[in-house]
Amino acid sequence: MTATLIDGKAFAAKVRAQVAEHVTRLKTDHAITPGLAVVLVGEDPASQVYVRSKRKMTTEVGMKSVEHRLDAETAEADLLALIDTLNTDPEIHGILVQLPLPKHLNEDLVINAIDPAKDVDGFHISNVGLLGTGQKSMVPCTPLGCLMMLREHHGSISGLDAVVIGRSNIVGKPMAQLLLNDSATVTIAHSRTKELADVVRRADIVVAAVGRPQMVPGDWIKPGATVIDVGINRLDAPEKGEGKTRLVGDVDFDSCAAVAGAITPVPGGVGPMTIACLLANTVTACCRANGLPEPEGLTA
Ligand code: NDP
Repeated sequence: MTATLIDGKAFAAKVRAQVAEHVTRLKTDHAITPGLAVVLVGEDPASQVYVRSKRKMTTEVGMKSVEHRLDAETAEADLLALIDTLNTDPEIHGILVQLPLPKHLNEDLVINAIDPAKDVDGFHISNVGLLGTGQKSMVPCTPLGCLMMLREHHGSISGLDAVVIGRSNIVGKPMAQLLLNDSATVTIAHSRTKELADVVRRADIVVAAVGRPQMVPGDWIKPGATVIDVGINRLDAPEKGEGKTRLVGDVDFDSCAAVAGAITPVPGGVGPMTIACLLANTVTACCRANGLPEPEGLTA
């Protein structure tokens, strides 16, 4: 491996420490405790794991953590009523509805019912519009984490060629927008992109957010490029024992690391940064709600 490893785990610990420091200041100087409410509907096992670790980390940085677990059959009106209550609760500064929701619930309707100022996932249509027009917004956590790592590694990404593979509303599109706002020259690739290898080969920065295990091989990477691997894919790992699995990203780590200038691993790259950015967004939302200065370096 010749690439520098961008250690998301260590960077996330640094971000969480910054958040914790700010939380302490809010408590001692202003008697305010930032509060994050997480709403989980149904029993999706992956969502349960995410919610558990979000709760643990929220508490660890000194914030108030509130969890609402609702039955998979919950009526839309009941979920909207809960969101309404959280919107007006002065002790709650961030609201996160864990996705995916059960099929009978309209995700867009539910997300857009959250007060945009408390929308710490940054998925509300108002926040999407604010980000798209370069205004102050709540920024989706995963792309924000990627941006922080890119800024830390490059200093400035202005003028660099960036390719984002994937155009989802939660990762690809906001990632491209953030890169553009930082003056990178951005290409968004997706399943219909022609000659994807050639498109990727032109990039100084590659962000892979596809959901296809090890799809990007090393010979697609321009020598010295920075590779950010958002993908989380589970593969069978019989070598670890029967029924065991291992996590891999959307890039083939070994071949890409042999060519790239810097690369994030999976696990230990983008994943830990996502939760750290959720905490950062909550403390930012709390400061904005109280007319206080925002922590530096924790927003886009
Ligand atoms: P989506 O399934 O919503 O989007 C995938 C995107 O990849 C689509 O835009 C799709 O294109 C594109 N795509 C699919 N196949 C190809 C292909 N062969 N060539 C080029 N593009 C292709 O996924 P998400 O954005 O939600 O997530 C992407 C990955 O990131 C997943 O592995 C997910 O688990 C992971 N993830 C990780 C997070 C973290 O914290 N680390 C957080 C969120 C997601 P099209 O639009 O044309 O269909």
